[in-house]
Amino acid sequence: MQITKGMNELVYLDNAATTKPCQAAVDAAVEAMTVNFGNPSSLHRAGLNAQLAVDKARKLIADAIGAESSNITFTSGATESNNLALRGAAAAYGRKKHRIVASSVEHASVDETLSALEKQGFEVVRVAPAEDGRFRPADFVAACNEDTVMVTMMYVNNETGYVLPVKEAFSAIKRRYPDIITHTDCVQAFMKLPVKANTLCADLISLSGHKIHGVKGVGALYIRKGVRVLPIVTGGKQEKGIRSGTESVPLIAAFGAAVEQLQPTITERYDRVAALKTHLLELIADAENVTVNSPEDGSPYVVNLSAVGKRSEIMLHFLESREIYVSSGSACSKGQQSGVLGEFGITGKRADSAIRVSMTAETTAEELEIFAEALREGMEKVRG
Ligand code: PMP
Repeated sequence: MQITKGMNELVYLDNAATTKPCQAAVDAAVEAMTVNFGNPSSLHRAGLNAQLAVDKARKLIADAIGAESSNITFTSGATESNNLALRGAAAAYGRKKHRIVASSVEHASVDETLSALEKQGFEVVRVAPAEDGRFRPADFVAACNEDTVMVTMMYVNNETGYVLPVKEAFSAIKRRYPDIITHTDCVQAFMKLPVKANTLCADLISLSGHKIHGVKGVGALYIRKGVRVLPIVTGGKQEKGIRSGTESVPLIAAFGAAVEQLQPTITERYDRVAALKTHLLELIADAENVTVNSPEDGSPYVVNLSAVGKRSEIMLHFLESREIYVSSGSACSKGQQSGVLGEFGITGKRADSAIRVSMTAETTAEELEIFAEALREGMEKVRG
C-alpha cells in the first residue's frame, strides 16, 4: 500500500488514534470533490455517478465482512455507528425488554451512550474480566436474561489490544436467547483481524474509516437483515431512512478505496505487525522499570506499556521532543484516564505511566529501535 511518510519523517506510533490516509483513499476523495461531485440523491447523471461511487464503496465494505451491500449504512464515524446501534436498537426493541449487557472495557462512544440509556430507564450490566484479566464468554451469558434487549462487546480493545471472545460469547448467547441483539465495535479489528458478521454471530457491527488509512469523518454500521434499528438522525431519508443527510461521497469513496487496498494483504500485514511487536518487546525486554500491559495474544497492532515512575503525559512529551508520537492509555480521553486499564488489573503507578504504541504494517523496525532508545533516555532524563 502506498503511504508516504510525511510530517518531516517523524516516528508516528499512534495508529490506533488515527492512520495516515493511503494514496488510493486520497485519490478517491479528490476525484469525488473535483470530478464526481454530484449529490447521490439527484436524478441527473452527476447524481447517478455519485451514487455509483457510494455503491462501489458499500460493496467493498460489505464484501470485507462477508455481508451484502444492503446491510451497510454509512455514518459520520464509529462514534455515530455505536450511537445508532445502541440507541437505535434500544428504541426498536426496548419497550418490552430493559436490560443491556456490555463489557466493562468499551470505548467512550459505547460506554457514554450506555450511561445515557441508563438514564432513560435501561438496566446496564457491565461484565468485567475475571481475576486473570481475561473475559469469560460464560460471564456474558450469565449476565443475560429474558429481559435483555442486546449485548455489546468490542472485538479489540483500543487501549491494550486485548481481543475479546466475541464469537464465543455471542454464539453462546444466541443459542440460549436467539432474540437478543448482538453488537460489536470492530474499529480496532477491521482490516487487521478477520471480521465476518456470520462468524462473529453479530447483528450489528461498527466500523470506522480513519483507523484503516481512510479519512476521518466516515464510518459504517452493519445491520443484519431483519434486525430493526430506529434512526437517530432524521431528515431526507438517505441510507434507506436509517441515516438521513447527504452522503459524504469523498469520505465514503476514500473508505472504500482503503478497504480495497488492504483486503488482499490482511494476513501478510498482520504477520508483519506481529513480527514488529516481537521486535519491540525484545527491544524493551531489559529496560529497567518498563512493563508490558498488553497480553501476549492481543492484537499486535496495539502495545501498551508502562514506563513505571514516569507519568504518561510527561514521557509522551519527552518522546515528542524526539519526533516520536505515541499516545497515553487512550487517545480519546485527552490525558484523562478512562478506567479501562484498571479493568484489566493495571492500576496505580502502572496506569499513571501507561503509554500506547500502535503500529501499522508500514511501521519499520528502525522506527521501533528509535522509540526504544528514546524510551531508555526518557527513563533516565524525565522527572516523574
Ligand atoms: N471505538 C473504538 C474502539 C475506537 O478506538 C474509536 C476511535 N478512537 C471509536 C470507536 C470512535 O471512532 P470514530 O473516531 O470513527 O468516531
